[in-house]
Amino acid sequence: MTILFRLAILSLVLWCQRAEAGEVALTFDDLPIYGPSRPIADSAALTRQLLAGLKRHRFPATGFVNEIQLAGAERPVRTALLIRWLDAGMDLGNHGYSHLSLTNTPVRAYIADAARGETVTRALLTKRRRSEHWYRYPFLETGPTLAIRRTFETWLAGHGYAVAPVTMENADWEFADAYDEALARKDQAAAAKVRQAYIAYTAAIVPWYRRSSVVLFGREIRFVFLLHASRLNADSVDALASILDHQHLRAVTLTRAMADPAYRLKDDYAGPNGDEWLTRWAGKLHKTLPYGDLPTIPADIIAAEARTDAGSR
Ligand SMILES: [Zn+2]
Repeated sequence: MTILFRLAILSLVLWCQRAEAGEVALTFDDLPIYGPSRPIADSAALTRQLLAGLKRHRFPATGFVNEIQLAGAERPVRTALLIRWLDAGMDLGNHGYSHLSLTNTPVRAYIADAARGETVTRALLTKRRRSEHWYRYPFLETGPTLAIRRTFETWLAGHGYAVAPVTMENADWEFADAYDEALARKDQAAAAKVRQAYIAYTAAIVPWYRRSSVVLFGREIRFVFLLHASRLNADSVDALASILDHQHLRAVTLTRAMADPAYRLKDDYAGPNGDEWLTRWAGKLHKTLPYGDLPTIPADIIAAEARTDAGSR
């Protein structure tokens, strides 16, 4: 076999693998920073590290902002963290001003909070001749009744927003709370253990979502992956990238993922739960997700997260 022929075969194999790759949009909630409040220098370093990691792997991403984090004397420097996301080529969306639960908040107050949550972000995007398009429900809680949900989503549509659903998640906030707690105690060994558990759990849950998608749709949809702008994720970008690579998942923009026809399937869920959309669609389609082999979060992570009582995600 000539070298040229071998090269041709190799490129064909690589091309086929590429063509078969699934797609996933990465989204990061609770910008500028998830977790306990930190000195601005730490927040800036965390943001720089997370964005450098995403750029290193050429991952597009969408960040969802809680503008309450910008309040106070450090407003300009905290706003500068959002500007870094835009400078890195990422998109930004609205996650409510103060991360309210629509299950527990009257809808008028919830709408006012969402409107307040776009003040800075929308201005930053407008300055770049872009518009703010995506809204991510805090806690993924979409309203206790259909009437409340419709009231809010009518407001969203009237303000140029579309809902950013979630079709893949890895409970990263629970691991992030345990990680931050270990780092606060300066217990590097415990932090490393949490990070290891996080990577192992992610490596197990990503294929579970792929299987679940096949149960519902007979194929793998373009996923929307919920993550948070945490210290844990800033420290884990390379490991996350290798999991996506191993799973033949290519990172794409949220806009591209949302063009998958699966997202035209409305979910009519009304209730207190903040489920991701595969669970919602399973109810609508009368199908059962493969819960029997759903990976479990280690008990010590849940216990550590409960101790922090961070309560935000
Ligand atoms: Zn959140």
